[in-house]
Formats: sequence, C-alpha cells, structure tokens
Amino acid sequence: MSLSHLAARVAAGERLTRESALQLYLDAPTAVLGRLADDVRRRKHPEGVVTYIIDRNVNYTNVCVARCKFCAFYRQVGSSEGYTLAFDEIFRKIDETISLGGGQLLLQGGHNPDIPIEWYEDLFREVKSRYPSFRLHALSPPEVLHISRLSKLPVPAVIARLIAAGLDSIPGGGAEILVDRVRQILNCYNKATADEWLGVMRSAHEAGLRTTATMMYGTVETVEERIEHMMRLRELQDETGGFTAFITWSYQPQHTELGGTEATGVEYLRTLALARLVLDNFDNLQASWVTQGGKVGQLSLAFGANDMGSVMIEENVVRAAGAEYCMDEFEVVRNIESAGFVPMRRNMHYDILGGPVFRERDVPRMLELAVARADGSAGEGADLAAYEARSAKGREARRQR
Ligand code: SF4
Repeated sequence: MSLSHLAARVAAGERLTRESALQLYLDAPTAVLGRLADDVRRRKHPEGVVTYIIDRNVNYTNVCVARCKFCAFYRQVGSSEGYTLAFDEIFRKIDETISLGGGQLLLQGGHNPDIPIEWYEDLFREVKSRYPSFRLHALSPPEVLHISRLSKLPVPAVIARLIAAGLDSIPGGGAEILVDRVRQILNCYNKATADEWLGVMRSAHEAGLRTTATMMYGTVETVEERIEHMMRLRELQDETGGFTAFITWSYQPQHTELGGTEATGVEYLRTLALARLVLDNFDNLQASWVTQGGKVGQLSLAFGANDMGSVMIEENVVRAAGAEYCMDEFEVVRNIESAGFVPMRRNMHYDILGGPVFRERDVPRMLELAVARADGSAGEGADLAAYEARSAKGREARRQR
C-alpha cells in the first residue's frame, strides 16, 4: 500500500495492523507521523487541555535480586549501599507531597527478599489511617509477582490482600518490551515473562483496579518487537479496558551493565506517535519529560501526548542511569501553556481536579524540599526488624540489630 493511501486510512480512524504500523514507522516522514498522531490526540481530547498530576515517586527499597542488565538503581542483598525506607520516612514524604497539593504516592522498589507481604500491608494500612483520602499507586507487576513468589500466594490473592490494605491502583512499570526474546537478553525474563506481566495486569483489572502501561525501548529490541509490545497491550485493553494511560521512555544507559547509547529525541517522538496510532483504545498518552527533558516533553504534545505525567518531587531509578531532568508544578505548567494548551491537574483516573495549585496558594519550589533521601544514605528502616527476613544475609543483619 502506498504511504499516502495508508495515511488516509489512518486519518479515517482505521485500526493499524502489525504490517501497516511497521510501514508507517519505517517510511513516514516524522512530520507526517506527528500530524497523524496529533489528529488522534485532538479527536480524543478536543478541548485543548493537557493534564498533569502532583504525586511523588518513592522508591521504598533499592535492594533487588532481579539484576536487570539495564538497571543502575539496584543494589544486591547485603550491599552497604542498600536501603529500605522506614515508615516514618515515607510519612514525611507524604506530608511534603500534601503540602505541594499532591494526593498520591507512586510507590515502587526493588525485589527485596527480606520484605514480606505483611510489611506492605502494614504500611498501606498505616498510610490510609493517617491520610484517609491519600492514594497509593503502588507495586508494578514484577513486584506483585515477587511478593506472590515470596509469600507462596497466587497473584489474585496477593492483589486482594493489598487492596484490602489500601492499594488503589498499579503502575505499569517493569514492562520494558513485552517480548520474551528481549526479556531474556535483558535478564528480566525471570522477574516476569511477557505473559506474566500481562497476567498480573489482567488480575488487577478483574479485581477492579485501574493501571497504567509502559514501554522502555532502545535496548536490544527491533522495531517489530516494539510494535508487538503495543499490540499485546492493545489486546489486553480490548479485553479489560483497565489501562488509563500509556507511557514510553528511552533506555537510559549510564552506569548500567548493558551500556550502549540512548535513543535520540526524534526516535522518541516517532515511537510516541506510533504508539498513539496503534493504541487506539487508550485514552491517554503521557510525555516522558523525565527522560527526554522539558523541551522534548513539550514537543511530545504535538506527537500524540495529552498528559505531562507527574510533577517530579523525587525520582531515583532513571536518575541513577543518568536522567536528571526535574520540573516542579510551576515549570510543568509553563511548558504546557507555552505549547498552547490549558494545564489542568488530575488524579490517577484522569478526573480533573482543578487548575495549578501555585496559582491558588504559595507552595514550596523544588529546591526548597527537604525529605528526598540524600545520595549514599543506606540501611534498613527500624520497622523492618519486626518482620522475618528471607535471605541469609538479611536474617543475620536483623539478628545483629
Ligand atoms: S529494574 Fe527493578 S527489578 Fe530490575 S534490577 Fe532494577 S530495581 Fe530490580
């Protein structure tokens, strides 16, 4: 099919096949891809609003047994640089988030064998008793699987227990590329196969939770495999309708075992636009300015994105791999408005909460924040001593406390 014929069919709303998606990605000029994706964005969000959320990305532990080759964040069990946050530290972060107008934690961490399911349940219950309306967007599918394996409980039972304790929604992390050939090379096949990642999301949707979906591209995958990833998400979304949004970002190579180079900004914009075209059953696409920077983040709004994601109070995982972009609410809003859109605050379900908080009252700017954990700060929070450790090193450390 000629490119112009294909573009006309896409503009008419026809669903892309694997073959037509590949043809578009390989042959369409970047401006054409952008225009097609922008048309879809405009059809789905004709009011010219770009949303964002004020929440805090808290990485509760960096101790991890998964050892993904693309990860610069994890430390091995027993490492002097390993940490697990104390409950009090997490509460202080919540206090600070609330002072900025935020209402949610995005809580993710390593696969720490010395944190049992009861620790998560107690943390969630305590958060909900102290902050009843605060939301917990927590534990990506591989973490849920890890807890399931540690506790010897099936995934639906783990999800049910976590919901009972206060879990509100599940972030789409750990998807990388949902093709097992890629996952084996990246050493993330054991933490979750493609089917297992999708299976956790299916269970979450069946339990009534909404979740997001992600894609980290730019490691060893082919373009066909990126498209396969999108198709698998589209199929599950057809089945459950449980995904609220899709977020893609490029692999950040610094300090990782895999090494290599980062994909360019144009590759990001083309991949984002393609996702907007393939994922016709996703309402929202986020701009990943945390990895691409504010300027490419702004351009994303012309390549299919309708959301600027989270105001980044704190982030540790991609920062460990070299991405150091940070924007507070003032900067996010400035970028949205100068791109010609109306900025609106939302929650995880994409309900509109209002306009910028800093226009209603004084809020601290990013540099005035106090509770982000300083680099090099390590060790286990004291509350973990009350729980049973699984690893020999963990048991020994807790005996010596
Ligand atoms: S990406 Fe997550 S699961 Fe993989 S090594 Fe890093 S912290 Fe562990």
